[in-house]
Amino acid sequence: MKQTMGKQPQGPSTALASALLLGLTLVLSVFSPQARSEPFQWPGGARAAVSLSYDDALPSQLDTALPALNALGLKATFYLTLSSPVVSQRLPEWRRAAAAGHELGNHTLFHPCSRSAPGRDWVAAHRDLDRISVTQLREEILLANAYLHAIDGQTERTFTAPCTDPLAAGQPYLPAIKTDFVGIKSRIGGVAPSMATLDPWDVSTAGPVDASGAALIAIVQEAAAKGTLASITFHGIGGDYLSVSQEAHQALLQHLAAHPKLYWVESFVKIAAHLRQQREPAATSRFEPASPPPAQDGQGRLVPAVP
Ligand SMILES: [Zn+2]
Repeated sequence: MKQTMGKQPQGPSTALASALLLGLTLVLSVFSPQARSEPFQWPGGARAAVSLSYDDALPSQLDTALPALNALGLKATFYLTLSSPVVSQRLPEWRRAAAAGHELGNHTLFHPCSRSAPGRDWVAAHRDLDRISVTQLREEILLANAYLHAIDGQTERTFTAPCTDPLAAGQPYLPAIKTDFVGIKSRIGGVAPSMATLDPWDVSTAGPVDASGAALIAIVQEAAAKGTLASITFHGIGGDYLSVSQEAHQALLQHLAAHPKLYWVESFVKIAAHLRQQREPAATSRFEPASPPPAQDGQGRLVPAVP
């Protein structure tokens, strides 16, 4: 069995079929747009991009996650629910996070979710996405962008859908805000299967709760093996709700920081902008990254850019 596999003699009809298949493959490869495009490249020759995000503006994100990221020089995105008192009461800290290179992302003002979905008794009636129109929600999201601009001065950012719910009053709302953002995290998932098909406005993200460090590291390792993008959405870090322990979070950050040739860890706004640049090199400056991609030294290690 083992020896005969793949060694069967080819008859004339098999040889003809093989020749036709080869010819067809060559014809398709000449006319396929993908075959002519360069392979996807992340800055610094990294194998994968990693987008770490922290939703809902929780105290443990400022107290635990942000110092851990800063200590290792890793950049992330904080998707703020802007009505949270943790935004208004700790404004200087969010502003410093933005100044340090983290993105303050849009997670709406009031975090509306569909109350009809399972386990959603906690959704207040006046924040029920089943009863909020697309027009009304877009107004809320644009006002959230204005508030964020007042905090960080930025004009480009990304969005994460509260509860990853795609419908407002039963209608898809993400298409209505697509032009207001560089990228959108819209679904549960985590690792992009292919860069050729990845839509920056429909990115899936993992939502680990009570996960181990090894489980978190496995997500980014999968992205490195595929050469794509890993997105992880955290809530509490060592506290608050839907939490991951401080130890598990730290284990992931140390793994990422220890392998700069494998992982480009950046804010989602810069990752999405890079994605667009790779696809459309002549894209307008609106989508250019705010800072140049990291430089490399002679050994291919990432080196910090000169200020
Ligand atoms: Zn949320």
